[in-house]
Amino acid sequence: MKVALVYNEKVETLAVVKALEKLLDSRKIEIDPENPDVVITIGGDGTLISGFHKYQNLVDQIRFIGVHTGHLGFYTDWRNFEIGKMVDNLTKKQPSSASYPLLELIITTGSGEKKKLLALNEATIKRVSKTLKADVYIRDQFFESFKGDGLCVSTPTGSTAYSKSLGGAVIHPRLKALQMTEIASINNRVFRTLSSPIVIAPDEWITVKPESDDHYVVTYDGYEFNHKHIKKIEYRISQHVIRFDKYQHTHFWNRVEDAFIGQPKNK
Ligand code: NAP
Repeated sequence: MKVALVYNEKVETLAVVKALEKLLDSRKIEIDPENPDVVITIGGDGTLISGFHKYQNLVDQIRFIGVHTGHLGFYTDWRNFEIGKMVDNLTKKQPSSASYPLLELIITTGSGEKKKLLALNEATIKRVSKTLKADVYIRDQFFESFKGDGLCVSTPTGSTAYSKSLGGAVIHPRLKALQMTEIASINNRVFRTLSSPIVIAPDEWITVKPESDDHYVVTYDGYEFNHKHIKKIEYRISQHVIRFDKYQHTHFWNRVEDAFIGQPKNK
């Protein structure tokens, strides 16, 4: 069993990292940042996302564990005071894991070059200075002409992030689906879009073809891909999944309630 640690620089995080390193050493669990079996992130959801991108090339071989040192997260199951139990779980022979869909985007540039990216939360396309004009296709069938700030395609686990701020539905992460939401679409007598988020099935894909050659920004989980000539972007559910060591002391809808509603607990 080899683990890699990914963490943020917060004081409370560094204290947990120190205690965890000691625990791992006492159980003879090796820290191997190059070739881990398990990636443990300590911090928040943002830290887990950076851990995913650091180790995405190994995603089929590894499992992730998220320890949170701030508020309860959507990717972070373990609380800082539970790390002893977490390390005990690591030594189990047959750990159970939960897997969630990832978004694959294939960007084709004007020169025909293809760039494949993976996202855990979502990907967006925006135009830098002017209105984005793009045709949207579902399963290669024309769907609509979009005009506005941009479009966002998210995974189920990403549905509580940027997608939610854009009016998207919160989707249970066990569902295999992708959701597209609009970012400030223009709707008037001339321009018309559906104006609702859409959720596509596992065997479907979305293609966005920007109308003119201009400077577009593609974001994926807070990272950027800048290119002057983007011909099209295809979004589909990746054949890869992210695997988490199964624990979940808080069920998904309780997390949603805790993160966004926070009602008094006497109901
Ligand atoms: P970041 O600071 O790493 O994250 C921004 C906030 O989003 C943090 O509070 C983070 O939680 C939270 N978050 C991340 N993934 C989440 C998820 N699946 N469900 C619920 N909350 C989640 O910001 P960043 O580096 O710019 O981008 C990372 C993510 O931020 C993007 O993937 C995007 O989803 C989100 N974002 C949201 C908006 C918006 O809502 N208007 C705008 C831009 C980006 P922690 O504090 O636990 O890390």
